[in-house]
Amino acid sequence: MLIVMEAGARPEQIEAVVRHIEKMGLKAHPIPGAQRTAIGVTGRQGAKDPGIVENFPGVKEVIQVSHSYKLVSREAKPDDSVISVGGVDVGGRGIVVVGGPCAVESYDQTRTIAEAIKRAGGQLFRGGAYKPRTSPYSFQGLGEQGLEILARVREEFDLPIVTEAIDEESLNLVDQYADCIQIGARNMQNFSLLKRAGKARKPVLLKRGMSATLEELLLSAEYIMSEGNYNVIFCERGVRTFSDHTRNTVDLSIVPAIKRISHLPILVDPSHGTGKRNKVLPMSRASIAVGADGVLVEVHHKPEEALSDGPQAILPSTFADLVQQVDAIAGVLGRSIVPTLSRA
Ligand code: PEP
Ligand code: MN
Repeated sequence: MLIVMEAGARPEQIEAVVRHIEKMGLKAHPIPGAQRTAIGVTGRQGAKDPGIVENFPGVKEVIQVSHSYKLVSREAKPDDSVISVGGVDVGGRGIVVVGGPCAVESYDQTRTIAEAIKRAGGQLFRGGAYKPRTSPYSFQGLGEQGLEILARVREEFDLPIVTEAIDEESLNLVDQYADCIQIGARNMQNFSLLKRAGKARKPVLLKRGMSATLEELLLSAEYIMSEGNYNVIFCERGVRTFSDHTRNTVDLSIVPAIKRISHLPILVDPSHGTGKRNKVLPMSRASIAVGADGVLVEVHHKPEEALSDGPQAILPSTFADLVQQVDAIAGVLGRSIVPTLSRA
């Protein structure tokens, strides 16, 4: 259920509705929008009908939402959400370019790549300290030491950091060190991890599972939001198909599909999406053309020595071209790469 408040509803009127809903044992999620505030109601409804609040002062209407995702939907919030990642806005008119190595391998490697990302105009730095690898014998990441490296590099280059959490233990640490918590494709339906991410203080970058439908992706975001963390950013990273010329197939049509249904921003990751270095630049341009709010790409100065995902890592020089080209495509749509304007 969704309670839509009048445009001029006063804070105490919103508060009265929230209190009433919570007295009924339900959870109230006030979602302020550009025009009005809506209050999402979640939880199992008992005998009492929360629709009674229709008569409360300041309430415009009560809408029964038929689909199971509610807080992620444009019914809850018609205007686009803009999510601040360490002061860099994701969503809205700006475009973000997120770059970094698949894995944090050492301080020197991370520093070298971060410097190149910053110089080229990338706004966020991403690198994995906890790596979910297909083989238990592959490099698993540096763990907390990797997070320390990321935090050091953030200070050096003024680049907010995004990094993956793979379980509750790593999520607690990532929440402390990073500016944004990545939930990877393999964990998109790890519901206990999603609930924990919903209690985190930091925004969440939620990657689409490799065979997840649009609705499943929306419901995973709903898990996070229903716990009170409304700062969720989607990321399309390719799905499994019969095509074998790429690692995965980037499903670009999910971008306009998400935009119709949800107010949350969406990025595209053409690195995991294609698995091939030479396809990252063209698919980045295409991602922006279909309306993505940015791209997330893997960059390495020595890809042949990378401890993971070397074949899909682009060189720093290609990253610099990518930033320019993405900005040019964004310009056609009246958008642009916004420097870290809102940075406090
Ligand atoms: C990653 O971002 O390095 C990663 C493991 O991606 P995904 O979860 O999309 O496979
Ligand atoms: Mn990777």
